[in-house]
Formats: sequence, structure tokens, C-alpha cells
Amino acid sequence: MKEVLTNPTAGYYMNRDVFGQTGDFITSPEISQMFGELIAVWLVNEWTKCGRPTPFQIAELGPGRGTLMADILRVFSKFKIAGSDFSVNLVEVSPYLGQVQEKQLCPTQAQEATEVPQGSQHYKQSISLYGSQVRWYNHISDLPRTFTLFLAHEFFDALPIHKLVKVDQGWREVLIDLNREDLTLRYVISRDRTPACLYRLDNESREELEVSPQSLVITQTMAARIHQDGGIGLVIDYGHEGDKTDTFRGFKNHKLHDPLVDPGTADLTADVDFAALKWAATHPRAFEDWKANLTYGTVDQKDFLTRVGINLRLEQLLASCRDENVARDLKSAHKMLTDPMEMGSKFKFLALYPSVMEKILERYPPPGFV
Ligand code: SAH
Repeated sequence: MKEVLTNPTAGYYMNRDVFGQTGDFITSPEISQMFGELIAVWLVNEWTKCGRPTPFQIAELGPGRGTLMADILRVFSKFKIAGSDFSVNLVEVSPYLGQVQEKQLCPTQAQEATEVPQGSQHYKQSISLYGSQVRWYNHISDLPRTFTLFLAHEFFDALPIHKLVKVDQGWREVLIDLNREDLTLRYVISRDRTPACLYRLDNESREELEVSPQSLVITQTMAARIHQDGGIGLVIDYGHEGDKTDTFRGFKNHKLHDPLVDPGTADLTADVDFAALKWAATHPRAFEDWKANLTYGTVDQKDFLTRVGINLRLEQLLASCRDENVARDLKSAHKMLTDPMEMGSKFKFLALYPSVMEKILERYPPPGFV
């Protein structure tokens, strides 16, 4: 999965735009500006709850086309959060999508990415439309140490999973093998235990499951930063609470695609195990020094968006809209984002807070989650 998606030369994400009508899938920020705007207001609200610490950073993992961040920065500028108060830091492995993000967030010629000073953790930098620093990083652990609003939208579902099955002898891993007769790929069960079988399986009642060690490590890194430097995390994705078994699949041209056929030409994805992410956010690794963070959620996208005011935002936009087609598109976008039959209940929101905020959150719980 890692090779197919992010191999430097042939990886699915590395050299193409995979989103939208002409791509393989469409994501919520691409459907409507309302999505990013509501998230921006939520972030400003929660940052205010923390005492508006500055300087701070907004760090997005896997920003795609940069649309969500563009909508957020527009709203931040309305709240006069711009310039040197904060920086925008993007964790992105794809050079192609990095370019798309740069055009979206730093669109003018004068703001073209400048040379990165030697010894920097980031690989590219520029200035946003609103005057803030924008930097690109390969890994979450390279991000600057400061108060951080973390965002991950449809990021964790792209990280590699291991498939485990219980057989008579115990847990085994499902591997991918080459059938030498017809040179096709096929699934096989490992003869012995593999390192992935060391995952926390003691009380597991499922006979088959998917584990994503990389997702756990990234969540633990985010959790450590939130505890040590202050911050909040918002993770949005399709997923489950640790009860699903077999969700690994491919997508090509908006249709399901066999992951073993023409690897590299289709998106590969697995539902996010939110129970595992919550475990990671509350369990430091042995060598680490941080306490369990607080987690909120998951809640369904329709509940989150409705509670933070998507209906009101739709009304406002419709009130100032003179074009019938635009009005129709706004209504259909609202339906697509919130209808349980569309993205409304498939997508979930999870928030992370440092444990020091417990008392404040008891009084002022995170909007959207209750
Ligand atoms: N958040 C965007 C894009 C989702 S697609 C949206 O919702 O529209 C997944 C994104 O994660 C892409 O930008 C992809 O290039 C990036 N990505 C995938 N694997 C990654 C990894 N290991 N590290 C950093 N970015 C990664």
C-alpha cells in the first residue's frame, strides 16, 4: 500500500491530481466552501478557548489540493488572524500535490516558493495570500515545536494497513504474492507469525482485522505534541470504532477497483480504526514523557456540521445568491455533506485535547461533539 501510493516515481499520489469529477474520488472540502469555513470557525473558537496563544501553527496532514486550507485561511483573515501571528505547515509527500497546494495558497508570482535555508526541516516554503509563512514537510515529527492546530482530512485512510487473520495456529498476516503461472497478484496467508502479529491482539474478538502501525505512530506523535507544546487535533475520515474486519479496497474513476489489478493506477484505502487512534492518543510509547490526552468523538459528519451551523451558513449563502444554478449547487452540496445516505454518517469527526483542558472542556465542551 505504501509503495503503490507513495513510491517516489510510480506512486499513485506522486504525479497526478486524483480528485474531483475527472479524478478517482471527491472529498468534502472539494464539494463546498461551507465545509472548510465551518471547520475554520471551529478552530478559531477552540484556539480562543486555549487563550489565543501566539505564535501558533496550523498543521495539516495530507492537504490534497489545498482547498480546505484555502477556505480556512480566508476565514482566519476575516478574524484578523494572519501575517506573523501564525504559520501554515503542511505535511505532504507528493511533489505534484505540493505544487497544486502552492498555487492554491500562494498564488501570486512574487510569492513563489523561495529557497529553503540549509539544515531546515521543511523542503519548501512560501508566503500565503494573507502574508503568513507556508512550509512543506515530509513527516509530522519535522514540524516546529509550538502550539498547533492539527488537521487530518482523509489522511489516515491512505496510510498502509496490515491484514491479520486468525487461523487454527493463531494470528497470521495476509500477504500479497505473485502467481508465477499467470503473473497476477494474489493474497496468501503467512506461514508463521509476522511482526504485524505483535499488534495488541490479546482481547480481540474479531477473526480478521486491519491494523495500521503508521497511523498509530503518527497519532502518538500528534498526541505528544499536543501535550508538550499545547494544541488541538481534528481528525476527519471514514471509519469505524474497532469493529470492522475487511475494508481494504481500491477506487478508480469513482468506482470500486480490485487493489491487485494494475497497482499504482487506483487509490488504495482502508477505513480508519478510530478506536485504535483513540488508544494511540492516550497511550505514550515507553520512552515518551506525556500524559493521556482527552478525546472527543467520534461523531458523524452530519451531526458535527449541523451543530456548528451548516444550515445557517447555507441560508446566508442562498440569501446573497442571484444565480439559480449556484443556488441549486449549494443545496445539493449541503445534502451531499450531511445526508446519512451520502457522506453524512460515513464520515466521522474525532478531536484531541491536552489533559490540562479537562476542566475548561467540562464547562465549555467542544462544539459539534455534544
Ligand atoms: N485532505 C485532502 C486530500 C486527501 S488524499 C482532501 O480531503 O481533499 C490524501 C493526501 O495525503 C494526499 O495529499 C496525499 O498526497 C497525502 N499523503 C498520503 N500518504 C502520505 C504520507 N505518508 N505522508 C504525508 N502525506 C501523505
